[in-house]
Amino acid sequence: MQSIFVDRATDVAHALRLAQQPGARFIGGGTNLLDLMKGDVEQPARLVDITRMGLDRIETLPGGGLRVGALVRNSDLADHDLVRQLYPMLAQALLAGASAQLRNMATTGGNLLQRTRCPYFTDVAFEHCNKRVPGSGCAAQRGVNRMHAVLGASDACIAVHPSDMCVALAALEATVVVASASGERRVAMADFHRLPGAAPQFDTTLAPTELITAVELPPSAYGAHSHYLKLRDRASYAFALVSVAAGLEMDGATVRSARLALGGVAHKPWRVAAAEAVLAGQPVSAERSRQAAQLLLAGARGFDGNRFKIELAQRAVVRAISRAAAGTAQAGGNGTLTGERA
Ligand SMILES: Cc1cc2nc3c(=O)[nH]c(=O)nc-3n(C[C@H](O)[C@H](O)[C@H](O)COP(=O)(O)OP(=O)(O)OC[C@H]3O[C@@H](n4cnc5c(N)ncnc54)[C@H](O)[C@@H]3O)c2cc1C
Ligand code: SF4
Repeated sequence: MQSIFVDRATDVAHALRLAQQPGARFIGGGTNLLDLMKGDVEQPARLVDITRMGLDRIETLPGGGLRVGALVRNSDLADHDLVRQLYPMLAQALLAGASAQLRNMATTGGNLLQRTRCPYFTDVAFEHCNKRVPGSGCAAQRGVNRMHAVLGASDACIAVHPSDMCVALAALEATVVVASASGERRVAMADFHRLPGAAPQFDTTLAPTELITAVELPPSAYGAHSHYLKLRDRASYAFALVSVAAGLEMDGATVRSARLALGGVAHKPWRVAAAEAVLAGQPVSAERSRQAAQLLLAGARGFDGNRFKIELAQRAVVRAISRAAAGTAQAGGNGTLTGERA
């Protein structure tokens, strides 16, 4: 049995010092990292527990917007009054993910960094996975690829990023706040996750010793007309085949601006500026929504097991826009949301 050392960080500077030790990894809720350790996919020598550093607060920002500490639990974020009022697509996305027990443990920072659910990655019995063993090949391309990417994939990897929360954060144009020994930097959601290219072992642009301290949400004009639609094999406790975060800023019956992000289709949440632009300046219509869907899926390429996702995603986009136009479904008193979840 392998021994694991656990250090408990007391503040950010302490966490960054502890992370310099060879083989050290931060641990938040542990719902992803511990699973991967049990399966020998990840083998850190030391864990740095960052859950007691006071990064579990949600605060309003001076110019509007919210700062969400990296250790805020997914359930607390989904249940926060201001999130439900101003960023309902984020609350919906969080509640569509995992289970209540997992959401009570999972943190904002950990959710951003959760790894793909590709079965060839999560099971070390499979030899050919470029993400786990660079240069070993990609078994998914000729294997089981129902859940895999139809956009932005490479010859090296066709995995998707599995997070629901990140799809809403992409549509909301959140910023990830990162601390390192050389100071603080801020990364736009669009630049945080990366496409696999020739180096699929890297999911994000974060360096291994960098710590996510917060996620900042800018003021949002999309609270009244937004929707998160998740399509999956089971009605709960399943990752997205396809998901859509849709937000509309309305001026009467006219769309002033739109935000659309797709999940379950690529190595990162997927946005296309032209798809959002085609909705602006006119009322919502089925024709414009279909155009937006086509623009979002432009260049999509399926594999034997997942070609169906291209049309599914297009239909989901049209439906999510129509739901957003009808007005945001409100959060119910028990923390669940009325309206469609699957
Ligand atoms: C059965 C099951 C079903 C699930 N279903 C869904 C689903 O439908 N939708 C969905 O979106 N998710 C789902 N999840 C995934 C779940 O949301 C993630 O496991 C969770 O969000 C990870 O958060 P965590 O705090 O537990 O991360 P951890 O496991 O603690 O960490 C994950 C990674 O992030 C790193 N890390 C953590 N915090 C920081 C930080 N602040 N700075 C730098 N690095 C950090 C760790 O080193 C590790 O590499 C599911 C998980 C399970 C087990
Ligand atoms: S899709 Fe990516 S994660 Fe899955 S087997 Fe291929 S290289 Fe590995």
